[in-house]
Amino acid sequence: MIAVIERADVAIVGGGINGCALAYELSRRGAEVAVVERRSLTSGATGRCGAGVRQQWSARENVTLAMQSVEIFEQLSQDLGADIGFRQGGYLIAVHDEEDLRQAEKNVAMQRSLGLEVDILSPHEVTEIVPILDVEGMRAIGATFCPTDGHADPFKTTYAYAEAARRQGAHFYRFTTVTDILTDQGSVTGVRTDRGDLSAPVVVNAAGAWSKQIAAMAGVEVPNVPYKKEIIVTERMARVFDAMVISFRDGIYFSQQDEGQVLGGIPPPETVTGYHLEPTFSFLQHMAATLARYAPVLSHINVIRQWTGFYDVTPDARPILGPVEGLEGFIQCHGFSGHGFMLAPMVARLLADLIVDGAGSPILESLNLARFEDMDIEQEHSVVG
Ligand SMILES: Cc1cc2nc3c(=O)[nH]c(=O)nc-3n(C[C@H](O)[C@H](O)[C@H](O)COP(=O)(O)OP(=O)(O)OC[C@H]3O[C@@H](n4cnc5c(N)ncnc54)[C@H](O)[C@@H]3O)c2cc1C
Repeated sequence: MIAVIERADVAIVGGGINGCALAYELSRRGAEVAVVERRSLTSGATGRCGAGVRQQWSARENVTLAMQSVEIFEQLSQDLGADIGFRQGGYLIAVHDEEDLRQAEKNVAMQRSLGLEVDILSPHEVTEIVPILDVEGMRAIGATFCPTDGHADPFKTTYAYAEAARRQGAHFYRFTTVTDILTDQGSVTGVRTDRGDLSAPVVVNAAGAWSKQIAAMAGVEVPNVPYKKEIIVTERMARVFDAMVISFRDGIYFSQQDEGQVLGGIPPPETVTGYHLEPTFSFLQHMAATLARYAPVLSHINVIRQWTGFYDVTPDARPILGPVEGLEGFIQCHGFSGHGFMLAPMVARLLADLIVDGAGSPILESLNLARFEDMDIEQEHSVVG
């Protein structure tokens, strides 16, 4: 058996957006980092995602984390020395009835108190922002809108982080599978891989929908469940809208890409948990029908591709971050429940500060695994897809 490298300060399991962003932030702080990825970078949820970046959440930590991430996204192409395709066309969130409106008003008040620029729109204002929408077809009475929300390219962003980390000395071991977490007397000591052992006093579990298995290797139980999600992309058409349109009630989200394709998803009619990646015709029908109801003009364009990926879902739809009790050096970075692309830049900074300088933060504390012990948790309600 050939050892990949003998030792690192930090071994990161998983080469998605979170593993790569963290490798960058850690190596920037002088740590020697090894990322171990069993396939290629972005082969997990990252390379299959919508890559929307939204700050309009119902839980305060998510708003704060997303706002801080947007600040980073705005500078990221410059910081990493490569265009990550970040565009701020806003997120337009449908408001369907009076009950929705009350929740939207509550969310907007909290979001504004944190400094977010966000408004409640009339039906007329909705169609000013996205002219192809049929507000009646959407069964909406208005929307909320935040102009600084947006999206980035998930491949360009992840590879830009990885390349910048590599320039700072980080090592990437692709096509290398972690088969065990090595421990000794209550501390992690490294990882076992199918190419040999790597010793490290800190191991980060950033394995997305497979994090439960990585945690189990260390004897740690996490409550995450993988959910299959489906997504489509259409042929190109003239650019007619910049915003991401979403509805918490219908679960739909869609936006127009730089090159003109419309990309979007909706929860499949059948909920599927576990590791199943087969695309379904029932999803395609449901997505097409709902999209045509929201924007009738889109019923004339062809879907060219459909694919699937996993959400790594926790009981409160919020991530699990930071250390675990009883196993020194084992850091969690998973459970993103469908919004791990947008939160990655700030999460990486917080975890790097914790790992290198021992600096904790109230957000990390509130997102620790221990919160599930007493089930005193704040549910995130603003989820789609
Ligand atoms: C259809 C869809 C749409 C989405 N839309 C959005 C969106 O608009 N905005 C947003 O913010 N988020 C979105 N998400 C969620 C987002 O994709 C994820 O939260 C995010 O990509 C998670 O990144 P990650 O790095 O934590 O995990 P992943 O990208 O899943 O990476 C984990 C990696 O770990 C590797 N791995 C697993 N086991 C092992 C092992 N034993 N050894 C070595 N490597 C291992 C895997 O191969 C994988 O590459 C969407 C997800 C899906 C499926």
